[in-house]
Amino acid sequence: MGSKRGSDVGALMQAAADRSIRYLDALPERRVSPDASAVSALTALDVPMPDAGMDADAVLALLDDVASPATVATAGGRFFGFVVGGALPVTVATSWLARAWDQNAGAVALAPGCAAIEDTTLRWVLDLLGLPSGAGVGFVTGATMANLSGLAAARHALLTRQGWDVEARGLYGAPELNVVVGDEVHVSLLKALGLLGFGRARVTRVPVDGQGRLRADALPPLTDNTIVCIQAGNVNTGAFDPAAEVCALAREAGAWVHVDGAFGLWALASAEHRELAKGVEMADSWAVDAHKWLNVPQDCGIAICRKPHDLRDAMVVSAGYLVLGDEREPYEYTPEMSRRARGVEVWAALLNLGRAGVADLVDRCCRHARRFAEGLRAGGYEILNDVVLNQVLVSFGSPEKTRRVIGAIQDDGTCWCGGTEWQGHTAMRISVSAAATTDEDVEASLAAMLRIASKA
Ligand SMILES: *Cc1c(COP(=O)(O)O)cnc(C)c1O
Repeated sequence: MGSKRGSDVGALMQAAADRSIRYLDALPERRVSPDASAVSALTALDVPMPDAGMDADAVLALLDDVASPATVATAGGRFFGFVVGGALPVTVATSWLARAWDQNAGAVALAPGCAAIEDTTLRWVLDLLGLPSGAGVGFVTGATMANLSGLAAARHALLTRQGWDVEARGLYGAPELNVVVGDEVHVSLLKALGLLGFGRARVTRVPVDGQGRLRADALPPLTDNTIVCIQAGNVNTGAFDPAAEVCALAREAGAWVHVDGAFGLWALASAEHRELAKGVEMADSWAVDAHKWLNVPQDCGIAICRKPHDLRDAMVVSAGYLVLGDEREPYEYTPEMSRRARGVEVWAALLNLGRAGVADLVDRCCRHARRFAEGLRAGGYEILNDVVLNQVLVSFGSPEKTRRVIGAIQDDGTCWCGGTEWQGHTAMRISVSAAATTDEDVEASLAAMLRIASKA
């Protein structure tokens, strides 16, 4: 009643494929930010909810005709804002199929195929990143939830050691834990700390060096009540906190080390860049995104915990209807219960790229970043960071001029970069995270930046 599914599912799916292909094919030619008229045209979607439903074909057509032109072309090769990444074609294609399955990947009984694929994929990820093979792992929506999961495991482990059941009793009256972060900690990690009852502000912030790296020599005394949060990949500079030093000190003290490696942890897949992350394998928990640098579709992050039971004990629930077998139950390792089969896309990416392909993806993005830095420096502009990874910070002169140039670059549409305030500087931030970015994309974008900056 009222729900018009359309007469032909096949034709509908084919139309979706045709429209998607047309969208992707047009990416290299289109401007990166949508033009203002496309954004204003979105009001066509803002209608009262209809009493009688609309045909499925018409729903699809409306979405494509109105919303596709208003997208930001993050799926193309010339988006360098935030740290985002595109989506490898194989991950989009396998995602379509997995969407058609509509599996609930939370439980083996609901999705044995997805659970098996995820088991294999998690083994591959641990191997590729050189992390302990027996670690406990969960697929979550992104690094925010992966950070939350790792920190929940830390909270569980440290308080259990003190005889406190935090899952049952909460933090009321619990022994206090000390949380230590670098001064350039990612805001999502502070958010995770807040959600877990640690407080966003009730942390010890450790001074950082000129690249934003936590200074190991400035750490407070660590104890077995301490959680130290370090970064693999500073969101401004790409720099890595000194994991080997921090982990050695933490081990001695019985402290827990959590690594926010949202994008930077993938450096471990590259022989050329692995050294940056040296020592992270000694930590206790890790967060990494697949939707950023691995280039799978939004949204996909991975929570990893050295001792699987710490993560599982923090997440597990039981109910009479949850009858379990011997297999690893995916929902026991994540905050979510029901969820989509996001592991399929990671599986597809790793199978398609292989070890060499992931290393090449990382190395290629880093090479592009170095080219941006070299070209901008040659144009007379100051590069503020050591370009060790895929992130470049450039100043075009005064803060006002830099802001003006960023605005003009965004308006121009050839590429897209955002701004940042970092260590007292106003800078444009370039993040090369998309597998789709080619040498031509970099040269065209660099030429646009230099042309615009010379006139601003
Ligand atoms: C992007 C990012 C996050 C947050 O990840 P989401 O996937 O957006 O939840 C956390 N830490 C760092 C270093 C990041 O770059």
